[in-house]
Amino acid sequence: MKTSYSKISSYFFCAKKYEYRYVQERPAPAKPELAFGVALHAALEANFDQKVESRQDLPLEKVLEVFRGSLNEGLAAVPDEKLRGAADFHYLRGMGEHLLEKYMAERAPALQPAPRGVECFFNLPLPSGHQITGKFDLLDTDWVLRDFKTSSKPYDPRKADKTQLVIYAWACEKLFGRLPKALCFDVFVKGDGAEGAIRLQDPVMFPTPSAADMAMVARNLDKQIDRILDAQNRDAFHWAFEPIRCHWCEYQEPCLEEWEKHDRPRPVRIRMEALV
Ligand code: SF4
Repeated sequence: MKTSYSKISSYFFCAKKYEYRYVQERPAPAKPELAFGVALHAALEANFDQKVESRQDLPLEKVLEVFRGSLNEGLAAVPDEKLRGAADFHYLRGMGEHLLEKYMAERAPALQPAPRGVECFFNLPLPSGHQITGKFDLLDTDWVLRDFKTSSKPYDPRKADKTQLVIYAWACEKLFGRLPKALCFDVFVKGDGAEGAIRLQDPVMFPTPSAADMAMVARNLDKQIDRILDAQNRDAFHWAFEPIRCHWCEYQEPCLEEWEKHDRPRPVRIRMEALV
């Protein structure tokens, strides 16, 4: 099976949601947070992609133009009633422009992407024949692998998903023939409401995982994929109904309707074991 780590995580988040999205491929209402994240990534990618050759950052106005274009496109697919409060169009646009302005002034000038080092897609073979696909955002010429993240609050490195870091390091070795010197998350903090100010968090750095960690993750990913395939064969995708997860779920309405139709089966919550 060819899959991505985010799909695997989504199964353990809620098996029913996994079924809706990846088995039934049901369209879901677009989310403003997603449109914002995509637009920010598109603007940074446009800058760094051309910088591989030019070695110069784009003028800020060009970067903002890409951001605005992508944001307009993404938000056009979001129902009007969802564009309120912290998801208001003008608020999102102003916040993105502020964050990009700071990033382009304070961080981008010191970063030179490696050749082929922007938006790096990978496909990693696992021991039992499954494959993990994905992408990371940037590898710089100091061999630091970077990923851009948007978050409503500052990122806590103690809660980092070590598996994702291992997969990135492994991908770097496969694509570039060596491990990264370090991994770094550049976090754009949206500071929604009570969560504090909109700001760029100091770079969150992680050491490169060991070869033993990489072997362990590969073996454990195989096992998780087998669990998903087993659920698929038995058509056993259960409702998790964890309030905090359902609150953010784009399938809430159809999910509740179906749950009622099926006589409200009891929720089943599954956990992904630590992979590393
Ligand atoms: S609403 Fe909750 S139970 Fe239903 S699919 Fe979404 S996360 Fe799962």
